[in-house]
Amino acid sequence: MHVLDHPLAGHLLAELRDRQTAPDRFRMICKNLTVLLALEATSHVRTKQIKVETPLCETDGSALDQGLAIVPVLRAGLAMLEPIVQLFPDVAVGYVGLERHEDTAVAHSYYSKLPKLVGRYTLCLDPMLATGGSAVQAIDLIKAHGASPVTMVSVVAAPEGIEKLQDRHPDVDIVTAAVDLCLNDRKYIVPGLGDFGDRLYGTN
Ligand code: URA
Repeated sequence: MHVLDHPLAGHLLAELRDRQTAPDRFRMICKNLTVLLALEATSHVRTKQIKVETPLCETDGSALDQGLAIVPVLRAGLAMLEPIVQLFPDVAVGYVGLERHEDTAVAHSYYSKLPKLVGRYTLCLDPMLATGGSAVQAIDLIKAHGASPVTMVSVVAAPEGIEKLQDRHPDVDIVTAAVDLCLNDRKYIVPGLGDFGDRLYGTN
């Protein structure tokens, strides 16, 4: 479990939480925060030593030596896709569509398209780790496609979601910008930032 500990992460998160932050600004901050999350989440990707010719001489360098994959959970996870593809252009991308029932908050899968993930260092992207139900289902699917290791990347996590995910997938690392207080009776994270998808696309 890794909670970002960087002044910029706190700064960006406070602006995301602010109810006055408009969708265009919300999307931009989300991208920047995702860069910080992605750096933390990929800090254990395997590398190999290489030789590099600078304009002056040969020197030692390192190169990524492990396939990466990202799987955004639709729809909110899409907001975290592009900045990671920019950082890692060779990343394989899969999608899992999960929808929370309005009343029960139970997630059901309506879409799944995953590449071969065998041996790939895979990040599951869902900005709000709330009940953990969606994360568990998405990671069930991701593991069934052979991914290893798997890291869950969220912007905000609730203790309830962390507990559920750690119980069902103890091998999965969680990287987040904040662990909040609790869920409310509608299963929203408190203090949270509201409905991430609505904030992102202005659909509330
Ligand atoms: N999904 C959201 O968008 N917000 C929450 O607080 C919980 C789940």
